[in-house]
Parts: sequence; C-alpha cells; structure tokens
Amino acid sequence: MNEPTCLIADTICRTVELGVTITGAAVDAEDRTHIFCEVLDPDRRCPDCNMAGQPRDRVARVLTDTPAAGHPVLLHVAVPRFVCHTSDCSRSVFHARIDHIARARAVVTNRTKRWIVQRIVVDKMSVAAVAANLGIAWRTVNTIATDAARALVYNGDHLDGVRCLGVDEHKWKHVRGQGDSSFVTVLIDLTTVIDGTGPARLLDMIGGRSKHVLKTWMAARDQQFRDRT
Ligand SMILES: [Zn+2]
Repeated sequence: MNEPTCLIADTICRTVELGVTITGAAVDAEDRTHIFCEVLDPDRRCPDCNMAGQPRDRVARVLTDTPAAGHPVLLHVAVPRFVCHTSDCSRSVFHARIDHIARARAVVTNRTKRWIVQRIVVDKMSVAAVAANLGIAWRTVNTIATDAARALVYNGDHLDGVRCLGVDEHKWKHVRGQGDSSFVTVLIDLTTVIDGTGPARLLDMIGGRSKHVLKTWMAARDQQFRDRT
C-alpha cells in the first residue's frame, strides 16, 4: 500500500494505537479479513546484553484481532529479528519484543482480550457469540475471558475511590452444549457513572449467586471500604 492508503487503513482499524501499521489486506474464502502489518518502532536491544542488534529478517506472527465491519480479523504481524554482534553475548538472534501488542504465546491481541471481557460483561454476549464474532474456538474465548477478567481487576489499587458498587448476576456456562450452567456475580464500580465522569468499571467476577458472593466479598474488604460504599 502507498502511504496515504496505509494512513487511511490505520485510522479505520486503529492499528497505530495497537503499535503496528498496515501494509496490506485480503479477504479469504471463509470471509475472514487478513491484515498484514509491521511493528512500529521495534525495540532493537538484545534481551541479554541490551545492545542494539542488526536487522536480520522478519517472521510472521498471526493473531486474532477485534472484528472489522462484523468480520473476524487475523493480524499477520511481521516481527523483526535482529542479530546480536556483541562478542561476549551468548545470544546470536533475537525477536523484537511485541508484548505491547500480544503476550508471548497469546493467540489474540491484548486489545482483543479487553474486547472479549467487555462483550461478555458489559454487553452480556454469550461466549459462543463472542467466539463466532472473532472466528476462534469457544474454549479459547472462555479461557481468555476468565483469565483477563482476573488480571484486569487485580491490579492492587483497583478499589481506590469506589463509593458506589453495582452487583450483577450472570448465568455462565462452563461447558458447551448440554453441560451445567453456573452463576457468576459481577461487581462493578458505578462511582464514575453517578459522578458523570466516566463509564462503569469492572471490579471483580466471582463464581456463585450474588447474595452470597456480595456478603463474602464485602466481609473480605476493610472497614474503610465498607463505610464508604
Ligand atoms: Zn546480545
């Protein structure tokens, strides 16, 4: 693609904020959109000796990204590889780190993890519907949703400033098909909604019915928190 075309594509797909720039795109027979991209400002420092390496080549890493125009998106990220020439360094070749785009071994981009949690928790979409939108397996979405929800809410200071708590009970199927359903209680910070300063924020997701979960959860908080909510 030429430069103005890339800029338009990056603006539509919000790829710059993801840390990549689009170089090409295609649609396959299964109606999935393939987006080819390069890493913006790759880190050339060797993870062992911290010296800048020499560009060697690029290897494609394929990641599922958020849907575009209602179709699943596969992002083909050309990850640069470098050669380390430091004489006493044991590493010869290394990849540019792309943790800001996707974690090691992840099959979806970091922003897709957030998208999955938002669709399930905020929009109350089923795991199956989210999986169909992304073009990935139900089990993958279910694992990402539970892991991401825990990682998003447990950042140490996530209860600071909470004065108004929202409680929502969801039916959450752990097994596809005819399996048992169980309940998940979602705790949401509504302080910013009441104050008119921002959207609701996910605080916690705990297995079980809301009445019991809320009682146990509040009992585990300190008195200062209980007094102000
Ligand atoms: Zn090195």
